[in-house]
Amino acid sequence: MKCLTCGNSSFDRPVDKSSLEIWYCKVCGNECAVRCHHIPDLSEMQISDLFIGTACIDPGPNALKSLMKLKKVLAFSERFEPALLEAQYKAGKLKWELGYFLDFEVAQAFAMCQAIGIPVTFEIVRSPPYATAAGETQ
Ligand SMILES: [Zn+2]
Repeated sequence: MKCLTCGNSSFDRPVDKSSLEIWYCKVCGNECAVRCHHIPDLSEMQISDLFIGTACIDPGPNALKSLMKLKKVLAFSERFEPALLEAQYKAGKLKWELGYFLDFEVAQAFAMCQAIGIPVTFEIVRSPPYATAAGETQ
């Protein structure tokens, strides 16, 4: 890369690497904002992984209790949809899809479900559906 002002190609670069660095032209001192792709920074720039949660529900009257409890303890999660659980309860399912959780929500969701005695599992979703679902008709 070259200085836009004088065409020189040697720069003073900052010691700390970042995704957007200010380089100073060694000849004229011109400041250039440079987007840098350092390997460690790429991992930090990734969007959060998504996980999908599944809960095993006891049949019978406990199912309704589980529904109420799950709706309460999972309300903190950004993507949680109570209607999704209600639909599965009404359908009589014993394995409920809990919807999508961001990576930093999984530990909390897991602990809370354990606290209310409902076994849950979380699986990582490799390709987040929200990134590809737009415009698709199913
Ligand atoms: Zn220059």
